[in-house]
Amino acid sequence: MNEQITQNLSIPVTQTADVLVAGGGIAGVAAALAAARSGKKVLLCEREYLPGGLATLGMVVIYLPLDDGNGKQVSFGIAEELLRLSLKDGKLPWIEKSPALATNFWPEPWLRDGTKEERIRTRFQSTYNAYSYALALEQLLRKEGVEILYGTWVADAAVKDGAITHVILENIDGRTAVAVSAAVDATGDAVLARAAGEETALFSCGNVRSCWYLAGAKGDQFLVELSESIARPDRPAAPGQTVISGVDARENSRFLQESHDRLLADLARRRKIAPDAQILTMATIPDHRMTRRIVGVSQSERSHEGAFLPDSVGCFANWIRADGGYELPFGALFGNRVKNLAVAGRCLSAADDMWDLTRVIPVCAVSGEAAGVAAAMSPDLHALPVSDLQAELARRGVKLHLN
Ligand SMILES: Cc1cc2nc3c(=O)[nH]c(=O)nc-3n(C[C@H](O)[C@H](O)[C@H](O)COP(=O)(O)OP(=O)(O)OC[C@H]3O[C@@H](n4cnc5c(N)ncnc54)[C@H](O)[C@@H]3O)c2cc1C
Repeated sequence: MNEQITQNLSIPVTQTADVLVAGGGIAGVAAALAAARSGKKVLLCEREYLPGGLATLGMVVIYLPLDDGNGKQVSFGIAEELLRLSLKDGKLPWIEKSPALATNFWPEPWLRDGTKEERIRTRFQSTYNAYSYALALEQLLRKEGVEILYGTWVADAAVKDGAITHVILENIDGRTAVAVSAAVDATGDAVLARAAGEETALFSCGNVRSCWYLAGAKGDQFLVELSESIARPDRPAAPGQTVISGVDARENSRFLQESHDRLLADLARRRKIAPDAQILTMATIPDHRMTRRIVGVSQSERSHEGAFLPDSVGCFANWIRADGGYELPFGALFGNRVKNLAVAGRCLSAADDMWDLTRVIPVCAVSGEAAGVAAAMSPDLHALPVSDLQAELARRGVKLHLN
């Protein structure tokens, strides 16, 4: 349809924030915690009614490793704090019953400073209960003084002289504006960056149908990682396979319904073996991996493997195979056009063949902490001396370089 309507709305400014964080997934939680620990007034806006994003409501309950697979921890700071928080319930029933899973997902050698051989055998990763973890994240945010605004869609931005002056929200109050000094886009889809006029790019390979769920049968529980094979540059979509961008509302809704069909088919198969099989919990948001990101001042790239980056703000591992690890360049967290907007998590700037490594939970936490500290330090990221940011991150226990 080509029809358009025009509405002249005046929007009440109802709040102020030193740092507004858009999106309360792991990246947004890390950014909000980091900015609040700098003594800033932080407003975290989340469209759902629990924090955690894909890591909780997407039922992606595997916190991938903080270590490089060679026995060395590479991600520290809030990335480690949030992993340890995920262990607070103890071993989950489905881990307790499986020695293989216990080896993979209970990082006991890392908790007691085990030998290098033990640390190579058991990665520093975890699996957890989605809802208990979401509540633990909420408790932590509250303890640190972050104001959480749930049921709130970050819709637009008012920009003046290359800086966001107000972020426009939509929720049960209607449309309201928040006057901000700085903001962090942790929406996973670069929603705020795009609204503010920052340059963005879509993932070239699209998203496949996925819907993780927890099944119960015969008194046992199973995490079902229901997903088609991921499309990415080294493994494009199969001929005839439909992929979607993940940033089109109607496509998203159709794909989600088709993913639900697959879940029901999977459950029906299980019921043939175990008639009492049930859905215990399931993803209630779209399980999309790579959708839209910013085009940063620089980007994370494959060629960075094992390399020293002078502007590194943290380190992360390759979750697919053990390699030399990666440093995260500060320039991947902001673009050229909007000086007071940092970006974290799934939508930071990464080359298409690198994105599958930067999108995972530990990297979301590493980038979230760096983005939150940077946004708290300066309303002009282009002018913020990276050495000042690095000194502050190092003071908080972040490891900036691999060696
Ligand atoms: C099927 C699948 C399997 C995966 N497997 C693993 C795995 O095993 N281990 C691992 O570590 N990672 C895995 N990942 C990746 C990882 O889970 C996510 O990439 C990561 O959790 C993303 O965190 P994030 O904070 O960047 O974004 P998200 O988790 O997407 O969080 C974004 C948040 O912003 C909110 N939001 C979005 N737009 C707005 C808006 N405009 N206003 C307000 N709020 C908004 C959303 O509700 C959400 O809470 C998987 C992902 C998928 C899809």
